[in-house]
Amino acid sequence: MKTAVITGGAGFLGSHLCDRLIAEGMNVICIDNLLTGNPANISHLFGHDRFSFVKHDVTNFIHVPGDVDYILHFASPASPIDYLKLPIQTLKVGSLGTHKVLGLAKEKKARFLLASTSEVYGDPLVHPQKEEYWGNVNPIGPRGVYDEAKRFAEAITMAYHRYHNLETRIVRIFNTYGPRMRLDDGRALPSFVGQALRGEDITVFGDGSQTRSFCFVSDLVEGIFRLLLSDESNPVNIGNPEEITIQQFAEEVVRATNSNSKIIFTPLPEDDPKVRQPDISRAQSILGWNPKITRQEGLFTTVAYFRKSSGL
Ligand code: UDP
Repeated sequence: MKTAVITGGAGFLGSHLCDRLIAEGMNVICIDNLLTGNPANISHLFGHDRFSFVKHDVTNFIHVPGDVDYILHFASPASPIDYLKLPIQTLKVGSLGTHKVLGLAKEKKARFLLASTSEVYGDPLVHPQKEEYWGNVNPIGPRGVYDEAKRFAEAITMAYHRYHNLETRIVRIFNTYGPRMRLDDGRALPSFVGQALRGEDITVFGDGSQTRSFCFVSDLVEGIFRLLLSDESNPVNIGNPEEITIQQFAEEVVRATNSNSKIIFTPLPEDDPKVRQPDISRAQSILGWNPKITRQEGLFTTVAYFRKSSGL
């Protein structure tokens, strides 16, 4: 039986990965300091004989007894609101935390998978974004704490791969949504759904012409699982290439919630990328992966989750 460690396992993506690896028959050790994670995301796994939870900040030395086969490093604040509120913690978990988790992987001779991000491409000058693109990041802007931490995390991951021969995988995750997002995490989807369900104005930042490409969480988890089992050590984009403007997205949320909310326009945050769309040809050819869930289906499931969990 394989054992996997998931850092950030009580977060949105981490908790879905805990579910998937438990379903694959693995032992799962979830490590999270609950800074932005939520025990409710994993409470259904408490008491499972192949699941354990350790409350720990991975920027400090990590001790895990016994053999470990896979380590998935997902610990980090990951929404713009969170990393603006927690800039030092974001930098620390991407740098010191990644170093500690790589050290654990080396000690255990485990395969290490890094959760990286489309933010490494910054406000991209190449569209759609291919893995070969080096990006356009402002290191000293408000998003720099996240973008540069993840760029450092990629660099140190490749260094452990090249220098220590560690088996490493890097997934560059594009905008993802689904159940277990926090309604107050400041991202577009939970903000729009929360506002729509409360009948408040929907705040589209800027003129709403900036684009994103939204992937449903089950598709993302499938892509990450395939990458984990593959032998690809170069970064792989995982995301849904269907691109949409933020204004159109807000309109879709209004329809999906049957809301009477009006869309209003408020100032665009600094360094907000103007476009974002993954080129997924590498994932398609190496992993045989394609997203399957349409935005209509994904929004339906996600809105139902938010209604139920928030009572709105
Ligand atoms: N956005 C918005 N209203 C909100 C929250 C976000 O218009 O209440 C915009 C944001 O400026 C960005 C897009 O929606 O252009 C996606 O934002 P999100 O925070 O979800 O993720 P990002 O892709 O910026 O990391």
